[in-house]
Amino acid sequence: MYDLIIKNGKLVTPDRVYEADIAVKDGKYAAFLAPGTEAEATEVIDAEGNLVYPGIIDCHAHLNEPGFDYREDFETGSRAAAVAGCTTLIDMPLNNDPSLMNKEIFDLKMSKITKHSYIDFGLWGGIVGDFDDDPDSVHNNLADLEDLEKAGVAAFKGFTCPNGPLFPTVNMGNVREALELLKPYKALCGFHCEEYGQVLEREKKAKAMTGLSRQEKIRAFLDSHDVWTEYVATKNVIDMARATGGRVHICHVSHPMVAQVVKEAQYEGLPITAETCPHYLGFSEDFVFEKGGPAKCTPPLRTKEDVEKLWDYVLDGTLSCVGSDHSPAADEEKDNESRDIWQAWGGLNAIQFFLPMMFDMVVHQKKLCPSLIAKVMDYNPAKVFGFYGQKGAFEIGFDADAVILDPEKPWKVEQEKLFTKGHVTCFDGLEGKGAPTCTVIRGRVVAKDGMYVEEAKGFGKYVTPVR
Ligand SMILES: [Zn+2]
Repeated sequence: MYDLIIKNGKLVTPDRVYEADIAVKDGKYAAFLAPGTEAEATEVIDAEGNLVYPGIIDCHAHLNEPGFDYREDFETGSRAAAVAGCTTLIDMPLNNDPSLMNKEIFDLKMSKITKHSYIDFGLWGGIVGDFDDDPDSVHNNLADLEDLEKAGVAAFKGFTCPNGPLFPTVNMGNVREALELLKPYKALCGFHCEEYGQVLEREKKAKAMTGLSRQEKIRAFLDSHDVWTEYVATKNVIDMARATGGRVHICHVSHPMVAQVVKEAQYEGLPITAETCPHYLGFSEDFVFEKGGPAKCTPPLRTKEDVEKLWDYVLDGTLSCVGSDHSPAADEEKDNESRDIWQAWGGLNAIQFFLPMMFDMVVHQKKLCPSLIAKVMDYNPAKVFGFYGQKGAFEIGFDADAVILDPEKPWKVEQEKLFTKGHVTCFDGLEGKGAPTCTVIRGRVVAKDGMYVEEAKGFGKYVTPVR
């Protein structure tokens, strides 16, 4: 007698789509049955006509708790993620107050977030540096990294560009030392790659220009974060991986020129992985001119030609993961009427349509196989972040996560109806096809037909990697 059977669905893996029924016992996959096999279960879900993914892992999300829960907290962010088909997310250490920099803060954060996450989660630990500090005062947290690693963080994140006092920028000395310290643990260090000096100088110059129209200001913003800032920082960080042998992950690659550098490093055999996001694959800088502040993110959106070329690097495996980079804000921080591009919050409200947007792009617009989604949004993130063995594949004994997706179901983003705390999103009004009808985590339904299951609040558990 099983606890749950999901029958009549088409299971999607990175290399095939096939018919099988999923049998679940004690929160794990217990068997994969030939279609039509008679088996008893307490609960049966009919997935007739739908695809079933073994979960969706969002490897890059900012849920802002503790400290900035007026932007997003684990309750609101994870329920929106559940509706979007995410079964696991990996939360970023910044846009928190305090940022996740040591074991004490880890304990504080866990005491808050475990109470109300709807979905399973991992954590990125922070690497903060002393780029622009007084050389006599030590502000970096290098001495705390091993404790965070032992607390089971999935990866570490550092910023190479100006990022404010709560999460100070790392210099290449900090990057090198962090990689050396964490190498024995095979821990992964991810970086936001935009080079400090260029961003600082170019933003200063752009902001000093007067008399610009709204559109001219947007051009100035985009130019101040052009590809050379991302390219140089990526090369520097890759060089530190070359120097130390430490594992490096390049976050949110936005441009084919940057992806090419990653590809060459991988070809050389360096331990480099990289991700991109749906917005870099589906939207160009024209979208920023149209939407203004709500479409502001860094690195910014690139040209149409760059967007097209970036797909080549997803398809050839260079950019092996796709994350949402959900980086929400309070509505007034994204207000397009009162704020210009410089004052607008840099980050997109993106998590609730993470899977639907990617599915529409991959399957309906690009006419690619739905397997690509299983690869870049589940299997590869599970492998890269160490969750494989628990997550990321239809394997007996793995967590019984499942996302049932109706490939033809139409959807439309209506920002006032989002389950996130803030509602302003540049994707308001966007339409597509292909949406989850049911999200199952460890054998339990956490979202159904576009609504989260209230009782699943707090069900989400902390997932730690196996290196
Ligand atoms: Zn981010």
